[in-house]
Amino acid sequence: RAKSLGKDRYQLYSEELTVDARHNLSIEQDLRQALQSDQFVLHYQPQYRLDNQKLCGFEALVRWHHPEKGLIGPDKFIPVAEETQLIVPLGWQILDKVFSRVANWIRTGVDVPMMAINISPQQLLQADFIQRLNLMVDQYGLARNLFELEVTESMIMQDPDFVIQQLQRLRLSGYNLALDDFGTGFSSLDRIKYLPLNRIKIDKSFTRDIGRNPKDEAVIISAIALGRSLGVEVLAEGVETAAQCEFLREHACESAQGYLFGRPVPPEVITQEVKGALG
Ligand code: C2E
Ligand code: MG
Ligand code: MG
Ligand code: MG
Repeated sequence: RAKSLGKDRYQLYSEELTVDARHNLSIEQDLRQALQSDQFVLHYQPQYRLDNQKLCGFEALVRWHHPEKGLIGPDKFIPVAEETQLIVPLGWQILDKVFSRVANWIRTGVDVPMMAINISPQQLLQADFIQRLNLMVDQYGLARNLFELEVTESMIMQDPDFVIQQLQRLRLSGYNLALDDFGTGFSSLDRIKYLPLNRIKIDKSFTRDIGRNPKDEAVIISAIALGRSLGVEVLAEGVETAAQCEFLREHACESAQGYLFGRPVPPEVITQEVKGALG
């Protein structure tokens, strides 16, 4: 009896190991391999000011150059990397690659007004995160205020007191801070005033419905007003059409990012565009 129960249990377990779990398990093994064999690459997407149409920064976005599956987007592997804590070593690789690229651009005369980098909660929750980050930036001879670290509302909910403390330390260390995917995280507006932010990034799900859904437009208008009253800049993500851009400009949104201005591209493309513009 016990034996057959055990067998049933085993079957139950193996059924519970769903397709999803197996899929994630194989991604996890692949991720470990990928970290060792340097399969991650960064693409860079430009950000523009809406008042003068000038380039005001880039966002670094990671991709996985898989030997068999080709280029894989972060939505497919960042969540698994976060669940497995592999995001910590991956995060350091990403930071190292971005710093190395920015240092190279500066050396070769490519102007980088600002570089935004996404940071996961587990990275920020590491006690030695800031110390190591500062060391890395110093070793590349880079100024901290060249960088904007992007955090999300959900991150803050993980351990609000510690996260707010870490953010304050980062700010004091000289980094810029942006709240990513604003509007999607149910963060309490009450907490936002304690965050030492330079910028709020309105999530692309709101931008997408400009001209179609007055409620999304209302959220955008309130976010811009909130930014103004907190003394924080507002950037709209996912701007794809001239009409969306016009709406944002009319409502005095400071900056924007999206396919209308440029997709995330490999660094060589940025280098060539800048060289082309100069020559
Ligand atoms: P995110 O930080 O909100 O990045 C913006 C996402 O919107 C990017 O997707 C970008 O390619 C996409 N996007 C930009 N313009 C447009 C547009 O006009 N229309 C549409 N539909 N999409 C646009 P991506 O590169 O797939 O990244 C997805 C998410 O993965 C990021 O969202 C971020 O949360 C995460 N991620 C990316 N790189 C990193 C990283 O280096 N570290 C960590 N921890 N997370 C990252
Ligand atoms: Mg981001
Ligand atoms: Mg976002
Ligand atoms: Mg996101």
